[in-house]
Amino acid sequence: MAGQLQLVVACTLAAASGLVLWILEQGHERRQENNAGRPGRYERGMREREYVRLIPDGEMLLVRSLLRRIYKSRGWTIDAASRERAWAGVLATAQTQAGGSWPMDFQPCDVTSEQLQALCLAVEQTFLGGLLSAQIRKSRRPRLQVELAVDPRDPHSWLSGLHEDNTIYINANRWRESISDVSPLDFEGTLCSSKLEALAHALGHELVHAVVLNFFPEMDATSPAYIPDDKHGPIFMLLNKRLFGHTGHACRRLFTVEG
Ligand SMILES: [Zn+2]
Repeated sequence: MAGQLQLVVACTLAAASGLVLWILEQGHERRQENNAGRPGRYERGMREREYVRLIPDGEMLLVRSLLRRIYKSRGWTIDAASRERAWAGVLATAQTQAGGSWPMDFQPCDVTSEQLQALCLAVEQTFLGGLLSAQIRKSRRPRLQVELAVDPRDPHSWLSGLHEDNTIYINANRWRESISDVSPLDFEGTLCSSKLEALAHALGHELVHAVVLNFFPEMDATSPAYIPDDKHGPIFMLLNKRLFGHTGHACRRLFTVEG
């Protein structure tokens, strides 16, 4: 009887330790999977295939579904030829009377708010198919406004910034220098040879923030896939690339301005 009991205890212990080992192994495999599939933290300069892994599945579904709606509405997807035509179309529209009669090389003091509204509308209609304006109307939020002024929230801001009330501030102090063929600006991977072109791209950048703010307010406020790097995390990077062809989120002069 005592022998039988010892055998049962021994078998139970063996089974239990086997189970413990199996559980530990499963945990190890899962951790390895996580390490391979979801690298820990967003870092500036990550490649697309690295940073998209940081977007949780639920948020990625929402982002992809919105992208599909926008592609359908604007009538083209992400091919480079369509995108180039779209930017050229925006600049052509901006130079018409209805588009604001913009000169390619403007001075901040000459720009009117009607011109800014018209340019923003052209970028929004061409690249977002008007869906952002429709979403703003539907959710009864303040309409998009563009101000060429010193941002009261951040007087030392970069080229531009978006406020919670859907106002885009174009920082007047940063738009005095000329941009031309001999002194171009690399705006997030696009070579801009005029100030008007650079301004259109800057509006595109701010419209990405406006898309997140108005379509996905929760992501805007709390998502670890959007918030990092001053709201230029993986979700921003993906939308900025897919919607506007922008890579990265910084602009730089290629050549110093002469004279
Ligand atoms: Zn930004």
